[in-house]
Amino acid sequence: MNQNIDVSSLGCDVRLSIKREDLLHPVISGNKLRKLKYTIAHVLQRSQKCMLTFGGAYSNHIAALAAAGKLNKLKTIGVIRGEELAGIYMENPTLRFAKQQGMHLVFVSRAQYALKDTPAFLKSLHENYGDFYMVPEGGTNELAVRGCTEILTPQDTQYEYICLCTGTGGTLAGVVSSLKEHQKAIGFSALKGTFQDQVVSKYTSNTNYSITDAYCFGGYGKVDPVLIEYINTFKKTYGIGLDPVYTGKLLYGIFDLIKKGYFNKNSRILALHTGGMQGVAGMNLKLKKKNLPLINV
Ligand SMILES: *Cc1c(COP(=O)(O)O)cnc(C)c1O
Repeated sequence: MNQNIDVSSLGCDVRLSIKREDLLHPVISGNKLRKLKYTIAHVLQRSQKCMLTFGGAYSNHIAALAAAGKLNKLKTIGVIRGEELAGIYMENPTLRFAKQQGMHLVFVSRAQYALKDTPAFLKSLHENYGDFYMVPEGGTNELAVRGCTEILTPQDTQYEYICLCTGTGGTLAGVVSSLKEHQKAIGFSALKGTFQDQVVSKYTSNTNYSITDAYCFGGYGKVDPVLIEYINTFKKTYGIGLDPVYTGKLLYGIFDLIKKGYFNKNSRILALHTGGMQGVAGMNLKLKKKNLPLINV
């Protein structure tokens, strides 16, 4: 579903719609459902019983994989960055949810986590947990990219610009693969750097896209009062909740570019709401500790 957003107050004649991928599924939201669709099908087809993946304490991917595993009667193992979380993970909304979905959580130090892609680490995991299908951190692999080529529909060819947040680059790769020639994608990086272009070029020869990290607010998971105020005003004005790690920064960036006259007059812009709302509760706990304003959900 694409929802029109009235941006006439920004003083530039463009049309903005939001694709509500966040409403795809009650617990496996947005792009994580797209990314897991073919992975799960692959695992079930090979009659494997278990999936293992990696993530941080607030990871949307961990939450989504845990829920998807439960729905498909697959065991799931989450290797979580931060051994200090082992005793207190039930206080973390994301990890508590993952546990409730039946995910087995393994906490490792940051140093160990940095080695997660090495054969030795994988071997030790297999020794401990037997057979599993390994899904990389963030869920990006060829099957995930294929799932993301299904985000845009034939009706979406009316939009000249497709704007979306990018983390590992998998979602962007799928979207760019599915673009028509007259369309351009803009990836708003959720972290410092625009390295996602290497992921995109691995999966498609299309080059009608650009990536900016100008709206990452200092880095992955970083927020400031301006961003929080923007998210809360957006919710009040349009009735759509945004998350602070990805979609809040995306919409903030799109509004800023509209105000600056980046888009041609009468351009049609489609922003992808890739979900991630499960992360708001965890962010609010952090904001509360720092005595900062909270995100209204
Ligand atoms: C994971 C995530 C992204 C980033 O997706 P990538 O495929 O890793 O680039 C964007 N938005 C939300 C809400 C996410 O949870």
